[in-house]
Amino acid sequence: MLKPWLSPSFADFSTACLQGRLPGSVIIAGSSGSGCMELALECARFYLCEHQEGGRPCGSCASCRSFAAGAHPDFIMLRSSLKEEADAGLDLVTNPALALSDPELQVTDSGNRRSVRIDSIRKLIDWIGLSPAYGRGKACIINDAHTMPEGAANSILKSFEEPPPHTLIIMTAKSLESLLPTIISRAYKITLKEASLNVAEGYLGGMGFSGRASMVGLALARQDPDKAVQLLQEGIDKKAQRIISLLCTAVQGGADGELIDELAALAPAIQVMILGELVRELLKYKAGFALATLPLLDEQSAALLVRLPAEHLFTALSSLDQFAVSASYIPPRAPLALLRAWVQALAKGGHK
Ligand SMILES: [Zn+2]
Repeated sequence: MLKPWLSPSFADFSTACLQGRLPGSVIIAGSSGSGCMELALECARFYLCEHQEGGRPCGSCASCRSFAAGAHPDFIMLRSSLKEEADAGLDLVTNPALALSDPELQVTDSGNRRSVRIDSIRKLIDWIGLSPAYGRGKACIINDAHTMPEGAANSILKSFEEPPPHTLIIMTAKSLESLLPTIISRAYKITLKEASLNVAEGYLGGMGFSGRASMVGLALARQDPDKAVQLLQEGIDKKAQRIISLLCTAVQGGADGELIDELAALAPAIQVMILGELVRELLKYKAGFALATLPLLDEQSAALLVRLPAEHLFTALSSLDQFAVSASYIPPRAPLALLRAWVQALAKGGHK
């Protein structure tokens, strides 16, 4: 079942395909977690389906059954890899289920050295040259195409601009701008947008998370539904709420040991995520946003923490954003030092 926020893009693709308007090359651009690979797989499954009834893959023809079994002879996916992985053949994936379940296949973050290698592109070009086993044609995906070095991009350019008949080549990338202009010029382009808050909350609700948990998870994940699911499964929403509650206690009572311990037990990236969202919500609260739209805060915490001066919060936010950008290395004590400074600032400010 395609995730709800991918359905409109898939419907546009399948309509173009059925009306014969689809060029053989497609680019799906979207940020990490927007579902590029999932959509690419569904487009490939549809393209290869023998019936395509109602603009969806039928699920029962020989092609759909092979696809579901992870052994479709006319489908292949190229992934970004390290040299040793490519040498071991891990750069080519034929099983779509495996593609979706392997986190290392998701769009690469900065700090990840994997790339779509020129040797892999050569293997793909050979594969494209083979005749299809079934009648419909062939479909392949180049995942994380933005990691292709220029040499690899130039090697695939001719095939991508004019694929052989009945061949679909899909590239996924973090953005259209991350690809060479010659690559994007003739392709059918899909740019994925973030799921709207309503759609994302409905999706999380359907997975059994409460409305409150869903709101906290989505706020921490900056509205990325799949990341929110992961955070909720790890209980990060509860840890965030616990940290804010301990922060309020520390501000009122002065002792901050338990608060610091609780924060220190989390990975630095999670510390930055929680404190970053807390600062954003406090700034919004100061700007007059309703508490109902600020899931990390409640009346008590908002009233206590809003006393942090806005300049202080802006400075904190800019350091936290900086940590988040260079996520591969966050000084381990930095978020803790920030939190300690808050407690001291608030305690000094006087309280009931
Ligand atoms: Zn089918």
